[in-house]
Amino acid sequence: MNTEEFTMTIDGRAARASAMIDVVNPATGKVFASAPNASQADLDSAVAAANAAFASWRRRPLEERQSALSRMAEALEANVEPLARLLTREQGKPVVAARQEILQAVYWLKTHARLALPAAVREAAGRRIETRYTPLGVICAIAPWNFPVNLAVWKIAPALLAGNTVVLKPSPFTPLTTLKIGEVLRGVIPPGVLNVISGDDSLGPRMTIHPGFAKIAFTGSSATGKKVMASAAGDLKRLTLELGGNDAAIVLPDVDVDAIAPQIFNGAFYNTAQICIATKRLYVHEAIYDRLRDRLIEIAANTAIGDGSEPETVLGPIQNLPQYRRVRALLDEAKATDLAVIERGALPAGGGYFVPIAIVDNPPDTSRVVTEEAFGPILPMLKFSDVDDAVRRANDSEYGLAGAVWSNDIELATETAAQLETGNVWINDNLFLSPHAPFGGHKQSGLGVENGLEGVLAYTNTQTLYIPKPAT
Ligand code: NAD
Repeated sequence: MNTEEFTMTIDGRAARASAMIDVVNPATGKVFASAPNASQADLDSAVAAANAAFASWRRRPLEERQSALSRMAEALEANVEPLARLLTREQGKPVVAARQEILQAVYWLKTHARLALPAAVREAAGRRIETRYTPLGVICAIAPWNFPVNLAVWKIAPALLAGNTVVLKPSPFTPLTTLKIGEVLRGVIPPGVLNVISGDDSLGPRMTIHPGFAKIAFTGSSATGKKVMASAAGDLKRLTLELGGNDAAIVLPDVDVDAIAPQIFNGAFYNTAQICIATKRLYVHEAIYDRLRDRLIEIAANTAIGDGSEPETVLGPIQNLPQYRRVRALLDEAKATDLAVIERGALPAGGGYFVPIAIVDNPPDTSRVVTEEAFGPILPMLKFSDVDDAVRRANDSEYGLAGAVWSNDIELATETAAQLETGNVWINDNLFLSPHAPFGGHKQSGLGVENGLEGVLAYTNTQTLYIPKPAT
């Protein structure tokens, strides 16, 4: 794979732009590549190509679209290693994690290749009533920088399966692996079915107001999600919004602290805590609070922070400079306001965007480290004595993406989990997602769902046909 030149994919062909944007390796803070900065004409060509392709793609038999998804999975699988290494360079995550991300995208494509659209038939008042699910048209797919590949494939797979075509835009911070995926898939699927374009901060807003799109599938922050929703209103574009989270985990006193501590640590800090569904507030019963805190501090002290391309690295850098500054500022404010911040982890020298792992020991519920989504490795631990009070505090958030309950009493944990106002709740688990299960947020964490059959139907219109039954 040539990782020297990065081109967009429009109508199945390489497309170069007249301007480029710099791409920085967050482990060094240095520019290492450049990506096309799509002009309005490039965007218009991508939308036109997708519109032209839609006319025939929507008419292909479902089996043909399913087998196209299987071929896409095979093409990605054949390129896992170079794609994973590139993902590490632009995103910062360790190569093992980058490989996992590509392989998960492969799995998502393969699973969607086996899904089918339902058709409901009812009979009433002498009529046969058929409800079908028809594709929407051209999808505007916008992805963030934390899981650029997974979150793109979550959109592409169901959209194409349902008969839509796509124009995909990665984050300007992580455009490269997505552009290469576009390149790898040229020739694997018909031209125009999947177009990949990249650009600076102006490209997203230009896409969301573009009249050629039928739907916007967006993953990113809640603040941007609101802007996307406003710009979709002009022509009532369909919307799926997967937004921010400030997920709470509640740990009941009967757990085996040593057994669960590594899992809780992973759920909070994997991908350097840049996960929408990471544990971001940890409510712990007072009977075990100190032991769990000390165990998490010990794990943090033994976690290697560094360049994701080094084999021993467990946590990479923060992905980009503005986010690094936000996380640093949150940490500085916590310290300046005398919160008990416990920092661990040796940071590599050089210009990379590295931050330590920080555990904040029982801060007030109103502190910013508790109320805001840090999207970086700062975990507030909060003490409780009454589980109903813990649930109330967990629910006291504008977000509602995910949550977790930890207990050996599965019945009590399940009852507690059901009281969390979030789209996803794990019991004695975290981060696990399945392509078969709908994923979405309550409150300001999103609108609609991705994944599962529900996720596929989100790329369709329902059409009900009322057919007279022949007189007998
Ligand atoms: P972001 O909102 O800054 O950017 C996301 C994408 O939107 C990028 O591609 C960006 O270029 C584009 N964009 C920016 N402004 C736009 C506008 N006005 N109109 C259209 N597009 C625009 O988010 P981010 O910083 O890349 O990602 C981090 C956030 O994403 C966190 O809040 C995280 O919780 C959230 N996230 C949510 C999920 C989920 O599934 N719920 C998954 C991953 C990340």
